[in-house]
Amino acid sequence: MTALLPDLAHLPTFDSVEDERLHRKQRLAASFRLFGKFGFDEGVAGHITVRDPEHTDRFWVNPFGMNFKHIRVSDLICVDHTGAVVEGDAMVNRAAFAIHSQVHAARPDVVAAAHSHSIYGKSWSALGRLLDPITQDACAFFEDHALFDDYTGVVLDLGEGKRIGDALGDNKAVILRNHGLLTVGHSVDEAAWWFITMERTCQAQILAESTGHAVHIDPDQAAKTAEQVGSHRAGWFSFQPLYDWIVEEHPDLLDE
Ligand SMILES: [Zn+2]
Repeated sequence: MTALLPDLAHLPTFDSVEDERLHRKQRLAASFRLFGKFGFDEGVAGHITVRDPEHTDRFWVNPFGMNFKHIRVSDLICVDHTGAVVEGDAMVNRAAFAIHSQVHAARPDVVAAAHSHSIYGKSWSALGRLLDPITQDACAFFEDHALFDDYTGVVLDLGEGKRIGDALGDNKAVILRNHGLLTVGHSVDEAAWWFITMERTCQAQILAESTGHAVHIDPDQAAKTAEQVGSHRAGWFSFQPLYDWIVEEHPDLLDE
């Protein structure tokens, strides 16, 4: 199943919780720079979170109102389970807390979650449909994403966040109807990668269906391909060249 990946393609391990926290924050800051680079930001909307490795009911997130393209490690804030900012002196986006606290609570295996109002993701979300396995890349989401088939305004209360967590289920992603995409992973790297490739998968299906009838990969082949390209490890590995690229281009993102 993982024969496509080199043997050394594994998440790093850490000797201390401080090292692991710094690593997660570096990956998080890099993910914001990539989202900014790819144009996934829309004003102040969007958030990526990573669970603290020590206080597992807390997560690190972007300061509300700061451009993704400017975020450094030192700008990240830590929020506890009540929504209080316990590290950093910026505000947290209430929607980020309402959604991500409930997703992290519903899925103890999830280390990170990503959401933004990217153009193809929100366009596809307006259709109220799941994505189909029409490309190899789309197979990463085959029988592994869900639809939150409801829209009740900006998500500000925990009950709404909980319903999104319930809709996500055991999947790696959920399409929030009339809103956008949300992806999760066992690392920031993985959650960010699923978001990036899901956004492009939405774009590919919109382009294909605007031109003609898209041929679907048959379910057996789609399931096999999902095992190849859709594993936690494959998601993590796919992010590594993007991380190397964005750090080289924007080394200040690592400022502590
Ligand atoms: Zn949103």
